[in-house]
Amino acid sequence: MKSLRTIALKEAQNRISPEVKSPSAKISDFFGANVFDKRKMRDFLSKDVYEKLISSINQGELINTDDANQIATAMKAWAMSAGATHYTHWFQPLTGTTAEKHDSFFEPSGDGAIEKFAGSALVQQEPDASSFPNGGIRNTFEARGYTAWDPSSPAFIMESKAGKTLCIPTVFVSYTGEALDYKAPLLKALAALDKAAVDVCQYFDKSITKVNASLGIEQEYFLVDESLFNARPDLLLTGRTLFGHMSAKGQQLEDHYFGSIPERVFSYMVDFENEALKLGIPLKTRHNEVAPSQFECAPIYEEINLAIDHNQLLMDLMEKVARRHHFRVLLHEKPYAGINGSGKHNNWSLITDTGKNLLAPGKTPKNNLMFLAFFVNTIKAVSEHADLLRASIASVSNDHRLGANEAPPAIISIFLGSQLNDVLDEIEHSRISKKIKEDNALWLGIPKIPQILLDNTDRNRTSPFAFTGNKFELRAVGSSANSSAPMTILNAIMAEQLVKFKTEVDKLIKKGDKKDIALLTVIKKYIKESKAIRFEGNGYSQEWEDEALARGLSNIKTTPKALDAYLSDKSAELFNSTGIYSKREIHARHEIMLENFYKKLQIEARVMGEVANTAIIPAAIAYQNALITNVKGLKEIGIDSKVSIDIVKKVSEHLEIVKSNIDAMLEERKLTNKIEDTREKAIAYDEKVKTYFEVIRYHADKLEQIVDDSVWPLPKFRELLFMK
Ligand code: ADP
Ligand code: MG
Repeated sequence: MKSLRTIALKEAQNRISPEVKSPSAKISDFFGANVFDKRKMRDFLSKDVYEKLISSINQGELINTDDANQIATAMKAWAMSAGATHYTHWFQPLTGTTAEKHDSFFEPSGDGAIEKFAGSALVQQEPDASSFPNGGIRNTFEARGYTAWDPSSPAFIMESKAGKTLCIPTVFVSYTGEALDYKAPLLKALAALDKAAVDVCQYFDKSITKVNASLGIEQEYFLVDESLFNARPDLLLTGRTLFGHMSAKGQQLEDHYFGSIPERVFSYMVDFENEALKLGIPLKTRHNEVAPSQFECAPIYEEINLAIDHNQLLMDLMEKVARRHHFRVLLHEKPYAGINGSGKHNNWSLITDTGKNLLAPGKTPKNNLMFLAFFVNTIKAVSEHADLLRASIASVSNDHRLGANEAPPAIISIFLGSQLNDVLDEIEHSRISKKIKEDNALWLGIPKIPQILLDNTDRNRTSPFAFTGNKFELRAVGSSANSSAPMTILNAIMAEQLVKFKTEVDKLIKKGDKKDIALLTVIKKYIKESKAIRFEGNGYSQEWEDEALARGLSNIKTTPKALDAYLSDKSAELFNSTGIYSKREIHARHEIMLENFYKKLQIEARVMGEVANTAIIPAAIAYQNALITNVKGLKEIGIDSKVSIDIVKKVSEHLEIVKSNIDAMLEERKLTNKIEDTREKAIAYDEKVKTYFEVIRYHADKLEQIVDDSVWPLPKFRELLFMK
């Protein structure tokens, strides 16, 4: 019988890309075609309701039942004119993917049937969602969970060959009001940030009434041929390879990065980009990444809630479209040991309703004081809550990247670039003059900040949180993550920090300080207090780990321990003051994250055992048998050769170790599964079960190097990485 690998290799060699037709040569012709955007709202709604909807989008004002009915009718009319038959509330439960449950517009009525979509169905739904992770908030007997419309993210139509569905972005909450998803806490954090940031803006510019966080998400991913993927149970079930010797050629020649895009991949990229563009996702950039078969795409940044919805939608599209091209997209943080993993850089800034980016240095000294206020408060916020930010990017898959000398370390630090670093040092050591000289470059002792920062191009790629000219880039987020998790935290800590800042400044003003003196005094104090978190050197080096330890920065390498930060007193105060999580919610979430962690390890351990027992060991034994026949035959004809005997011995040694460790791991799992406490269980899975992976893999990979290639059952790294 031919092995799955042999068949897969043949199929992978003969791929023909499907034809990709762009809707138009001009992207602007079809950008947003499947979105119920403002222009379509205006066409389908009365002027009065349109304006109410816009103010709900911008100011979060509530929409009454009559207006909701009109909006629902308009949405239905638009969606049906585009061919949609069904609608769904589209939400982001804590599984990490998106969820949808479709209902048709169609309803039997009297002697016929009509298509209906009421305002109540738009505003709220009660999906039977008792099987989503809820951390004990919802027992199945009181299984009610509600989805509620988020007007700030526009409805869109998902197309598939079989039909079209109107999707309405929603939050997902329990009957008792607790958030069960990623979106609800994010929206709360954004509201807190908006208020706190506007209050601080008032020191500088009274015309500012709204501050939005904006986000541009760079998405890294791997592509692998579908048949090869299907012949690897580990990829199929866990998203990463649990076995596999490194290919002789990997990324060492650095010939893939920014190289010309292979034709088959290019065709896939254009295809999913077209789908994304129709859904209003403003994709702008595509390129090869560092590792072979690794790629990246990035959109133009957007308001953060929309940017995250779009990223979630994009990941979904990328997976769907990949199938049309007989590819599988790997969004896992570390699909292949030994070569770079994938991240999701989160580029974040704050933008006012007057169009000002608060993290962009200004032309005038006054604008620079405003910039410095937001800039230094960001640094201070991150320095106060570094552990929580670390926790927010923790996952079983991201553990492979953080601290593995290829991605930002598990130590949170901030890179500013030499110019701004100098500026902060200068302020720290300056004496604040009480005599203000307007329009002086050294007004108030603020050093001159060049508008275009040189460091904009001179990036430090080893920093988890880097300032890049007019935004911060959180580089430690994993490629498969929902960015809401870290962005909820980042915006919440910023909100809390800005509130504290204002309190301190106001106190000084009350005591008689001039406003600018008061601002600068507090900024200077924060610069001093947050100094330890600033680091300009190589974040991948051992020296940095040592220095960070001396500085008192945490370096928590694994998820179950990193997650403790969610339950600290400091975090409790933050969640309480910003209102993003109740005690019950955060405990539930903590529980869900731990469960997710150990369950994924449990699956990996099972797959490892199964693949070793049913594919690797039999292949090695078959090869051994062939060698034994060879040894016997040689003896018969009187040749005394040791080659085959040596190989038989080597194979036996590795087999022995693989088998005994698989068995020991199974025993360990049985013990671990009995642990009741979720945190302890997660730690045990990490420290007692996962530790077997390395030794099992090492010896299985040795076998791969010895056993006859034609009987090896699993597609090899060179095939997974270079066949496309
Ligand atoms: P790289 O980090 O790879 O050099 P770019 O400079 O192209 O990437 O930017 C990466 C992302 O940052 C893009 O999605 C871009 O739209 C986004 N970005 C640019 N300016 C801002 C900003 N002010 N706020 C948030 N994101 C931004
Ligand atoms: Mg980047």
